[in-house]
Amino acid sequence: MTPTAEAQHNALAHADPEVARLIQKEAFRQEDTLEMIASENHASPAVMAAAGSIMTNKYAEGYPGKRYYSGCDFYDEVETLAIERAKQLFGCSYANVQPHSGANANTAVFFALLEPGDTFCSIELSEGGHLTHGSKVSMSGKWFNPVHYPLVYDTSRDDAGYIDYDAVERVCMEHKPKLLICGYSAYPRVIDFERFRAIADQCGALLMCDMAHIAGLVAGGAHPSPFPHCDVVTTTTHKTLRGPRGGLILTNVEDLAKKIDKAVFPGTQGGPLMHIIAAKAVNFGENLKPSFKQYAAQVVSNAKALAETLVAGGLSIATGGTENHLVLIDLRPSHAEVTGKMAAQWLDDAGIITNKNTVSRDERSPFQTSGVRLGTPALTTRGLQEDDIRDVAKIIVDVINSAGDEQKIQHARAQVLELCKRFPMPH
Ligand SMILES: *Cc1c(COP(=O)(O)O)cnc(C)c1O
Repeated sequence: MTPTAEAQHNALAHADPEVARLIQKEAFRQEDTLEMIASENHASPAVMAAAGSIMTNKYAEGYPGKRYYSGCDFYDEVETLAIERAKQLFGCSYANVQPHSGANANTAVFFALLEPGDTFCSIELSEGGHLTHGSKVSMSGKWFNPVHYPLVYDTSRDDAGYIDYDAVERVCMEHKPKLLICGYSAYPRVIDFERFRAIADQCGALLMCDMAHIAGLVAGGAHPSPFPHCDVVTTTTHKTLRGPRGGLILTNVEDLAKKIDKAVFPGTQGGPLMHIIAAKAVNFGENLKPSFKQYAAQVVSNAKALAETLVAGGLSIATGGTENHLVLIDLRPSHAEVTGKMAAQWLDDAGIITNKNTVSRDERSPFQTSGVRLGTPALTTRGLQEDDIRDVAKIIVDVINSAGDEQKIQHARAQVLELCKRFPMPH
């Protein structure tokens, strides 16, 4: 039998008290702080039990029924379960559950669909995109030719800060990319997949959605689905989806599915993390339950309450609101002297965990930034609802207005601790 969580913990405490103590400290840190990093969440004990299981022991290179090693019967079953649940969850015909992470999923898609030097089109990291969408420090930007589409920069327009779809069309018609990417790391609005499909058809590109941030909202019906509009969809499983740390690739096109399977293994990875694939199966099972629909709706409703309260408190936020799980504070209009780095540090001191983030056309470096990114997925998992989130938002406004005053931050810390006591971690 798989050892129980308690037996596992005792074994670790006995064998390696140093690491056991660090894990215990981290458990207390999570319990005593409010996790508002938009890309993080609290996985369930069931997911963690599978992720920490004996399924870590096996080499299972290949795919169900086509392995290179003996002894894979139960691995075939668990991977097939994960695949079938992923397909059911997202309403598509093919799923590859082996990517070790979101970045690996994207690497495999590039390997499957592009040749070195090929042009693809995406949004830049500094405007809300991801490193793997063509940043110069990433393989995607070194070995391929990224061209970028902008946001709406005219602040007098109602859709300022939104994706500039007319410009997407212009950039694509000029550069004729082989692949067009939608899906972002710091974009608070719904993605218009139909418009992206029309543009991809017009310029002859394949359309990929990297739904790493919003996959849980898609699964729970709180954001439109990239299917049937996109040719290929990648995601992480540990953000709004609330599963183990990992990646996933989905498609409806048989020919693409074959290329993608080869690109994951043997193209870019070796043996799959079968314990994580077991945890993905558990997680997709959770995502299929009606309670996950409620969760996804609550995440969005909480983000709206957060956005409204921050704006009422005098802060500016990208696009003036949110339709998903995240809010991007732009400090420039209200706190010109405060950097994202300073604000995130003060919030950290108060026990609210966030990250500094560039805002559109940021004059500051990625190490300083003029923004702070906030999300509601983890707090919603802890059970906070709109009124509780409004309390958190007021604390955030106070901390940013505090100019780093120690007494004011300590007052905020006490309020945060009280909220943490009222909303214990899932266990
Ligand atoms: C988080 C994220 C990824 C990468 O996920 P990792 O698991 O950290 O590799 C890829 N794309 C987008 C849009 C993301 O937000």
